[in-house]
Amino acid sequence: MFDDLRDLYQEVIFDHNRNPRNFRVMEDADRQVEGFNPLCGDRLTLFLKMDGDQIVDASFQGSGCAISTASVSLMTEIVKGKTEEQAEALFKQFHEMTTGKEENIDLEAIGKLAVLAGVREYPARVKCATLAWHTLDAALKNEESSISTE
Ligand code: ZN
Repeated sequence: MFDDLRDLYQEVIFDHNRNPRNFRVMEDADRQVEGFNPLCGDRLTLFLKMDGDQIVDASFQGSGCAISTASVSLMTEIVKGKTEEQAEALFKQFHEMTTGKEENIDLEAIGKLAVLAGVREYPARVKCATLAWHTLDAALKNEESSISTE
């Protein structure tokens, strides 16, 4: 990765950590799931408002490291308006990108989430980045009220 691109990515992560988007309790949420990453201590509660199979609103509360906060902030932005199927497809792409299984990332599909591609070089931080998505997955499946990455 070029250094200037890496700097840009870090800037986006710092920005989302300092000013997380959609950081609020959603009183009328249809889905609410708590996610916990014991390796790092990241905790979040994800709220979703659904219209059929479409995510019409997403928000979160919680506290975690910069990577987990930036990841959930970016995720709540990108999944708004997406169908469950589209969100699951994004989760799969994000997972492959952060675990390094997929070298050729579809940048157009993944958009701003690409800023978190760098975590693949830090295996201990992968769960910080994917916590939000595992929590979303649980919320969409609507089976569990809390999940842990361990
Ligand atoms: Zn973390």
